[in-house]
Order: sequence, then structure tokens, then C-alpha cells
Amino acid sequence: MGVEQENRKKLGFGLMRLPKRDGVIDYEQVNAMVDAFLADGYTYFDTAYVYEGSEEAFRRCIATRHPRDSYTVANKLPEWKLSETVSCDDLLNESLRRCGLDYFDFYLIHSLEEDHMEMCDRWDCFSFMKRAKADGRVRHIGFSFHGTPALLEKLLSEHPEVEFVQLQINYLDWDDPKIAAGECYRIARAHNVPIVVMEPVKGGTLANLTPEQKQVFDSFEEAGSPASLAVRYAGNLPGVFTVLSGMSNLEQVQDNLKTYDDLKPLTARESVLLGRLVSLFRGTRSIGCTACRYCTEGCPMGIRIPDIFAIYNRYLYDGDLAAARQRYEALIDEGSSRASDCIACGQCEGVCPQHLPIIELLREVAEKIES
Ligand code: SF4
Ligand code: SF4
Repeated sequence: MGVEQENRKKLGFGLMRLPKRDGVIDYEQVNAMVDAFLADGYTYFDTAYVYEGSEEAFRRCIATRHPRDSYTVANKLPEWKLSETVSCDDLLNESLRRCGLDYFDFYLIHSLEEDHMEMCDRWDCFSFMKRAKADGRVRHIGFSFHGTPALLEKLLSEHPEVEFVQLQINYLDWDDPKIAAGECYRIARAHNVPIVVMEPVKGGTLANLTPEQKQVFDSFEEAGSPASLAVRYAGNLPGVFTVLSGMSNLEQVQDNLKTYDDLKPLTARESVLLGRLVSLFRGTRSIGCTACRYCTEGCPMGIRIPDIFAIYNRYLYDGDLAAARQRYEALIDEGSSRASDCIACGQCEGVCPQHLPIIELLREVAEKIES
């Protein structure tokens, strides 16, 4: 069966940003979210070895509570964790064990980009993927991608075995030269490779509008919610078979289900609205962190980088320094180290798919918020 037929409806449930209570995943709420998603006929879940607590949540809330043929699941091989003592087999088998499964429907080499190619080649990840498919541990193979269009072109030309590719696509990144979402999309289409979209609302950025953006949005009354507009943009692109949404509460699930149950194409007026929003976003300074959290596990200082950036972004939007300082101190009380504790080791910048200058940004946050 081709990958498109494996997914009955286009929305995929990203298990990257699950709700937490007192610092731990709120399994009760995740159960309600998952049940609503499946009850509406949706089937695709997305997890990864490196998403903190995500695989365990998958096992507890999905694998042990729902029949195996009622859902499909994607997982990913973190090639940057490979070493003389950790093989591709070890990582795949560990993911299967944590998820409580004996196969994954979709398995991806995680976050390929220029900086990760050396590890990918050294440990021959593409050959491993074919072997894992042949022995039945995975059904369909692909990769998620954060590199340049030139690298995507090369990979798809050299690896016809790739059945799908996961790309960061949203209306703000479409023409952004750093992400080049539109160009990458066109390359995947030219190779006739089906696409999974990640970050359709750019880690929440396109859902949380500034007051000025909100005013413009509200003047287009028919546009639904800012998040639904963003997911409709991605969901209506030809060749896209799944759009992932990293949902964090039941309201987001319900908003997404409403949008995808009746996936309307964008109207001409809504396209105009998107153009206006893009201009406003480009005129508003913010840190383009998508809260993927790839950077947090390896930080030797225990700095919760995305949480600090979220606080700083809110300050950049509303200018309320006192509130930002209060939120910052609350985060420190919860266990994060301070931005000023950064020792500039560079681990985080090496794994950041958005290529953010994290060290420099943390310095800026420390100067503004801590002083
Ligand atoms: S550069 Fe700073 S923030 Fe990044 S991993 Fe190292 S100590 Fe942590
Ligand atoms: S700083 Fe980069 S790696 Fe860290 S959460 Fe944000 S986007 Fe992800």
C-alpha cells in the first residue's frame, strides 16, 4: 500500500508538545485528546526517539488502549546519536520497545541537513532503513528535512527508495530564504515524493498573533482561527498526505478536527489576508524558535532554551518587561538554569533545525531580562 493510502485523513497528531501538569505529561488529558482524534476517523501519530517522554506517552495513551489496526505511527532515527557503541539497530529497537510495538508504519531519518550528513553517511543510515523495511520492523521509509534545496535535490536523486519526505511548510516560511519551504516543496513534487508537513503553524507562532496582527485578522471575519487558516494553507497543497500538528490541549484537537473534517481551500480574500500577515510578521522582531526541544536534552547547564525564548518573544510582542521577568523567575524556580549560565559549548546550535544563533540570543535575553 502506498503511503497516501495509509493515512485516511490528512491531519497527523504530533506528540512533541504534549500537555504537562507539575512538570510531567498529563496522561489523562492526552488520553482525552487521542480518543477524540481517533473517534473522528483520524489515524496518524508522529513521535520520535528524542521527543522527551513522547514515546512513553504513545505507549501509555495509544498502544495499550487502542487496537493496532486503528492507527498508524511514525518514528524517527536520530542519526546524530550514532557512535561506535550505539547502532541504528539499537536506536530503532529501543524506540519499538519504548512504544510497545513490533513495527512502525513510517520510519524517518530524523532532521537531515548539511551538518548531519557526515553521521548519516558514516553509519550508512539509508542502507539501514532499507534493511529495517525488508525485515518488517518498519513499513515505509523516508526522512525529515531541515537543509537546503540543493541537498534535498541530491538526496531524492540518489535515493529512489525514499517513499515520503517530511518538510517544514507554512505560509511564513514559504519564501523565507533560511527555510526555503516553497523551493523544497517544489523539489519533492518534481520527484513525485509524497509530503508530510511539519510546523504548519510554526511552533505556535502563526496561532498567537500580536494585537496589530489580530486586528487585521479580525477584519477578515470568515477566516476561522489563525491556526486553522495556517493549517488550511498547508493542507490544501497538492502532494501533501499528512499535516502534523503538535497539539497541546483538547481545544487545539477540536479546532483542528473542525478544520480538517471540512478542509476548505483558501479563498481569494484569505490569500490576501495571508499576504498582509506575512508583511506584519516580517516587521515584528521575534526569535523563530519552534519549541521542538532538540536542544534541551544535551545542554550541560540545563537551560530550558525554548521556554526562555517563548518568554522573550512574548516580551518582544507586548513590551511588558515586569511580566517577562516574573515569568522568567517562575521558570527558574521550576528548575531551568538562567540564560546567563550558558557556557557557549555550542551543542544546542549544532542540533537546532531552525539554525538559530542560540548563544548570542541567550546573551541578549540575559542582558534584557536578568539585569
Ligand atoms: S551553548 Fe549554552 S545553551 Fe547551548 S547547550 Fe551549551 S550551555 Fe546550553
Ligand atoms: S532553539 Fe532550535 S532546537 Fe531549540 S527548541 Fe528552538 S527551534 Fe528547537
